[in-house]
Amino acid sequence: MKGAEKNHTFRRREMVKTLERYGIANRRVLDAFLEVPRHLFFAEEMLDCAYNDGAYPIGFRQTISQPYTVAFMTTLLVERCSSGKVLEIGTGSGYQAAILDALGYSVFSIERIFALHERAKKLLTRLGFGVACRFGDGTLGWMEEALFNGILVTAGAPREPELLLGQLAQKGSMIIPIGESSAQQMTVIQKEGNDFKRELFEYFTFVPLVGREGWDETVF
Ligand code: SAH
Repeated sequence: MKGAEKNHTFRRREMVKTLERYGIANRRVLDAFLEVPRHLFFAEEMLDCAYNDGAYPIGFRQTISQPYTVAFMTTLLVERCSSGKVLEIGTGSGYQAAILDALGYSVFSIERIFALHERAKKLLTRLGFGVACRFGDGTLGWMEEALFNGILVTAGAPREPELLLGQLAQKGSMIIPIGESSAQQMTVIQKEGNDFKRELFEYFTFVPLVGREGWDETVF
């Protein structure tokens, strides 16, 4: 292993130790974080930040989510459905999608900014992650591929997107931050029969979910 690679591997292990200190305990999730080379989802000039526990710019006023946030959402998913089809809204850098692929899910991901969609799609393919990427408004879901066992919304929603709820399989869970643009509460909505069971968790701050069942683009 070359020096730079060794350094990335060392820093990735340190990042995972930090996640454990913050309470992430699921071994499958921690192993996925050890496996996916987060620095490859960063621009050259940002490489030094890749293994910090922070959110960083990826262009177009968007960010790659903080590792703790990705780990928190992924744990909520893994604990409720350990395999199957997962839809991610907000491909962004592609990092969260890669983590889901490493966990063995069949992953579908939608991004509304074309340049980000193109970049993530190429990167994920080059790195060998089998994620199906689509350009468009993710609040409408992915009809042709529904139903999903899990739906992860990685942008802050003003309310529950109805169309997405309709694409959840029986016992499937949607993990979605909901609230004002300044802070959103992590929410799990699980489909049970004709009903939905809701659980509330801690607050996070995401970039806005913009779309027909999200925020109006003109607000930002
Ligand atoms: N999961 C990403 C996080 C990126 S930030 C990662 O791991 O890097 C959230 C992303 O959601 C942004 O790229 C933003 O453009 C995208 N987004 C916001 N609203 C969206 C919508 N309605 N449909 C699809 N993507 C959306």
